[in-house]
Amino acid sequence: MLLGAIADDLTGATDLALMLSREGMKTVQVVGLPPDDFDFSGVDAVVVALKSRTIAADEAVSLSLDAARRLLAGGAEQLVFKYCSTFDSTADGNIGPVAEALVEMLGERLTLACPAFPANGRTVYRGHLFVGDLLLSDSTMKDHPLTPMRDANLVRVLQQQTDLQVGLVTREAVAKGAAAVKQAFDAATEKGDRIVIVDAITDQDLREIGHAAANMKLITGGSGIALGLPENFRRAGKLAPMEAAASFSAPAGSAIILAGSCSAATRRQIRSAIDAGTAAIKLDPLAIASGETTAESVMDWVSAQSGGIPMVYSSAEPDEVRQSQQALGREKAGEIVEHLLANVAIGLRERGFRRFLVAGGETSGAVVHALGVEALLIGPEIDPGVPWTVSLEGDRSVALALKSGNFGSDDFFLKAWSVAQ
Ligand code: ADP
Repeated sequence: MLLGAIADDLTGATDLALMLSREGMKTVQVVGLPPDDFDFSGVDAVVVALKSRTIAADEAVSLSLDAARRLLAGGAEQLVFKYCSTFDSTADGNIGPVAEALVEMLGERLTLACPAFPANGRTVYRGHLFVGDLLLSDSTMKDHPLTPMRDANLVRVLQQQTDLQVGLVTREAVAKGAAAVKQAFDAATEKGDRIVIVDAITDQDLREIGHAAANMKLITGGSGIALGLPENFRRAGKLAPMEAAASFSAPAGSAIILAGSCSAATRRQIRSAIDAGTAAIKLDPLAIASGETTAESVMDWVSAQSGGIPMVYSSAEPDEVRQSQQALGREKAGEIVEHLLANVAIGLRERGFRRFLVAGGETSGAVVHALGVEALLIGPEIDPGVPWTVSLEGDRSVALALKSGNFGSDDFFLKAWSVAQ
């Protein structure tokens, strides 16, 4: 294992793992802290998915340090602390406190912070974070329920979260390439900076920054910052050339689509699958609550289908969702559906199903948890941000495509299968 990463949430971890995998690293994503007996051999990168973005700062620090220790013990030569490309945090943390704790633990003089992800419209210029054409503080992130971002000046934002001196490496240096960035790092260290925000507005910037950071033990940022890191290991002769990147094979067995996301993209994907002849059963939260619909009854329906890949979905239009929420309560309605889909996943695995396409962030979390999945090997990308993965549990191993609600093209449910070989 060469690179160890700590991500502050599950889908962010997948995003990073996919980035590393696309750059030729055989990458495994671990859900939660890796167990003590976790086998780190045979992979190039391990991404630990924590749920630490909005928990208390001291808890986030202690979880992240635990993860870091396990990754280092597993052989990691470099650590990445991955957070959101919109720098989701509050004055109390958790980006500053976690970065500070990690850099101190590693005994490093300097680390960098760069949330830029140009492909998704996140760029950093003169220390200010832009979301598309807007400053972060003018974007919808200003109203985020948990981490409202009202200041786009990342030097200022980060300085409020840490006692370490925060500096800036501007685009002038980044545009000149890795050697100039390295010089800027040295100059920052001379000045007493311990964390530098680094400007980046293109993927090439990120690659140059990654190159310049080859010897940093800790790098922090969005998934974009990982773009240039695998190449460092390749230059050092530790990583195979791109062509030799890991192959992926999905376990053999029946396949199913489970959709609990009510997002617009998922609803379009459901319509498009049904139009193309996919057998589908729609779940009504009220029928689940009354006991009329059960995991058993859904599984019996699934087993009765012949040909094609069946789809079980609860996804509904906003009006319908409102109605079930009024009847059951917002949280209860969600829980009931998640619980049922999770039980269906468990039952279908018992019945020989091995390929699961799950739509919805919370829904995916519920299914992964119910199946007891501890680690996922990242496979081929289906659409931006959504890879096939395979869980690592020997003969209980399953292939999982975990789709965030709004990700994927309209034909996602149809085309995903051709990628899972
Ligand atoms: P997304 O990624 O689109 O946000 P999630 O799975 O994270 O999707 O969230 C969708 C939530 O809505 C889940 O908690 C799910 O159980 C709930 N849900 C799904 N279908 C319905 C429905 N028909 N009525 C009410 N809630 C629903």
